[in-house]
Amino acid sequence: MRRLLVVTASAALIPAALSAQGGFRGGTQIKDGEQCPPGMTEVRPRNCLAPEGTVPSIVDYRPKSTLKVPANMRMKAKFPVVDYHGHPGGPQIGSVEALQKFAGTLDSINVRLMVVAGNVSGDRLTQGIALVKQSPAMKDRVVFLTGINFTGVGSPGWADRAVAQLEADAKAGAVGIGEVGKGFGLSSRKADGSRLKLNDPELKPVWAAAARLKLAVFIHTADPQEFFRAVDYTNERWLEQSLFPERRYPQDRYPSFEQLMNERDSLFRENPRTTFVAAHLGWHANDLGRLGKMFDEMPNVLGEMGAVLYDVGRQPRAAHDFFIKYQDRILFGKDSFQPEEYPYYWRVLETRDDYFDYYRDYHAFWKLYGIDLPDAVLKKVYYQNALRIMPAVPQTGWPK
Ligand SMILES: [Zn+2]
Repeated sequence: MRRLLVVTASAALIPAALSAQGGFRGGTQIKDGEQCPPGMTEVRPRNCLAPEGTVPSIVDYRPKSTLKVPANMRMKAKFPVVDYHGHPGGPQIGSVEALQKFAGTLDSINVRLMVVAGNVSGDRLTQGIALVKQSPAMKDRVVFLTGINFTGVGSPGWADRAVAQLEADAKAGAVGIGEVGKGFGLSSRKADGSRLKLNDPELKPVWAAAARLKLAVFIHTADPQEFFRAVDYTNERWLEQSLFPERRYPQDRYPSFEQLMNERDSLFRENPRTTFVAAHLGWHANDLGRLGKMFDEMPNVLGEMGAVLYDVGRQPRAAHDFFIKYQDRILFGKDSFQPEEYPYYWRVLETRDDYFDYYRDYHAFWKLYGIDLPDAVLKKVYYQNALRIMPAVPQTGWPK
């Protein structure tokens, strides 16, 4: 490393480091537009050099930042929050005792209302609702979405049964539908064995019923686009797909990312009276122009921001402007319940901090920045937008 550092500091003063041909000793020269060979890096235009000694893998390389800047941690959100993308389980909502403890945990991060997006209907839904009602601490703080069972689409009477179930679940207290999982589109099959497309016309009566019952449909379609392409060293999610190979969608077995997006967009467009919430900002947080176009063209669509904080926080200026422009269209959601991870969201949304760590390096090997939203926008993202699309949830008791 020493030679490299000295050369970097003042190459002009140490011509001996260069060979007679003008390249670095031990280095390799490349032509315009070429990449350095594996194991080398481009230290000057068209000059590649390999580091001395053992090169760490990306798993072991953990540089400590020397940057000294203000750090404004936010353990609690500035305003009470609706977590629209909740998957609490037995340890949180499985008993009255668990619920009591859960209340304290949510208070510590200022999440006031948890939306259980478990895609559960019928008896399991009513049991969950009944249990929550028994909890003095949480009876007004946990609400449930119902689910749609896509088994047997295309068989006689499927839509009638699905609509009847939605009506019963709404009556039992469900405040929306979802999370419709990514299996819808990727793997769900119709009664005849063909892949159930997102925009299948047989589903239309269900979306119409959702509109009539004022149940927004929370839907997760596909996965990050990197999961649909080759896992090579240019793939931003190489590490994640290497840790969890089951997250890959080999293109000989699955529809492409774009095909799923096209089907989803046609579902949204062809059912304009139904409110849809695209989970994970529709996997377009890395392309806010595309997401904005979608919001512009489809007034019935909102986006939920769970698990894509790494994309919001790496473009603080663009994301700030986007959240301002589409402040009525974005919902807070977290997805997997890890209380210690929420403060990263508060910090990105509320502060103008620079260059801080994200909580999972396999999602993002880069740093995050605060996007510094004004209070009026924070309130919309944290609770006002969610309350608007869940009219069955009591609307009082929230800050104006
Ligand atoms: Zn989810």
